[in-house]
Amino acid sequence: MPEELDPFRIAQEQLDQAADIMGLDKTAHAILREPRRQVTVNIPVKMRDGKVKVFTGFRVMYNDARGPGKGGIRFHPQENLDTVKALSAWMTWKCSLANIPFGGAKGGVICDPKSMNTTELENLSRGYIRAIGRLIGPRVDVPAPDVYTNPQIMAWMLDEYEEIVGHDEPGVITGKPVELGGSAGRYDSTAMGGMYVLREAAKMRKLNLKKSRIAIQGFGNAGRFAFEIAQKLSGANVVAVTDSEGGVYSPKGLDYAKLGKAKDNTGSVKNYDGKGTQTITNEDLFDLDVDVIIPAAIENAITRKNADKVKAKIVLELANGPVTPEADKILFERGILDLPDFLVNSGGVIVSYFEWVQDIDGYYWSEGDVYKKLDTIITRSFGEVFKTQAQYKSRSKRISPRMAAYIVAVNRVATAMKARGWY
Ligand code: GLU
Repeated sequence: MPEELDPFRIAQEQLDQAADIMGLDKTAHAILREPRRQVTVNIPVKMRDGKVKVFTGFRVMYNDARGPGKGGIRFHPQENLDTVKALSAWMTWKCSLANIPFGGAKGGVICDPKSMNTTELENLSRGYIRAIGRLIGPRVDVPAPDVYTNPQIMAWMLDEYEEIVGHDEPGVITGKPVELGGSAGRYDSTAMGGMYVLREAAKMRKLNLKKSRIAIQGFGNAGRFAFEIAQKLSGANVVAVTDSEGGVYSPKGLDYAKLGKAKDNTGSVKNYDGKGTQTITNEDLFDLDVDVIIPAAIENAITRKNADKVKAKIVLELANGPVTPEADKILFERGILDLPDFLVNSGGVIVSYFEWVQDIDGYYWSEGDVYKKLDTIITRSFGEVFKTQAQYKSRSKRISPRMAAYIVAVNRVATAMKARGWY
């Protein structure tokens, strides 16, 4: 991977920039540049042919000054330690910006879940928990779903953990099915939070969402619900969607149900069957004539190679790390409002926090309550980011929304570390 696309280098570079702008204490900066704990495990898993295959996995706990580690687990063929480290750093800033009492963590397993059957996935999920079981816990580090993991996988993981500790412990993992202590509204909370952010951004930029066209990269945990909620909440027209295999574009708008069918029946949205639709690649998506682009898949979607082509007024980063620092600069100079990932996609972990609170209390809330509380928190974060940007502007410093978000988040973690006497 070229150095400029290495997610951990990117995460460190972003922190360095923020540290420089805010004048962060040097020792605090040094502590925050590296994870507190990173673990690699090798997991023997019995496969369908009776043979045992060894999978490699990771769990990184980046910082726990503000509370237990928190962050999802990815199952991905190209998973690697550097990506997990970067994602765990971004979780730290995400939880801090949302001002919820968690630090940041992340996990991952190198595997191709699309080629594995249910039993193999269950064996792998349980094996992973046996391998990292001593490093997690409701007061230690709390995993959740992420790319190619879901509530079923969380359920197996919870079950395995409870087998190990010998008692009920629903707060050890979030994103569970509601029957096992999951929260109402968790399944689409990442997208829901993103849509609240988009609503605030549209107000700020005076963009009428009802008349706007949206392109979405990704049709998984985040992108699929983003489509549905964008239409429902704002009346916007989703005109393009891609997944890892490519996608479709229709200036008149795409049909959500049909798109879902194409994905579920054929494995890709590119097989969408509709009049006036053209197939597009992931690259094509970024230079479409639309108002909002939502990268909702993986890292490095917008780089210096395509940032110049973006025609949208708003980029809503629903994925983690979809815009490289070079692209970030280009979008900022071009006056495109690029809303940073750890603000936009914080809805998932905010509702994970609600789930953890409900598990500890043993008292569960309605979906309406969850969304209302989510709206309050994420709208507050949005306000803090743009207030910080305005404060710097009044001192003649032009900083991007990402840098403003970093300043709010890093400041809180540094203050907690200082209070603990870490520096
Ligand atoms: N995987 C989601 C994220 O990246 C959710 C994490 C969580 O709920 O802990 O924000």
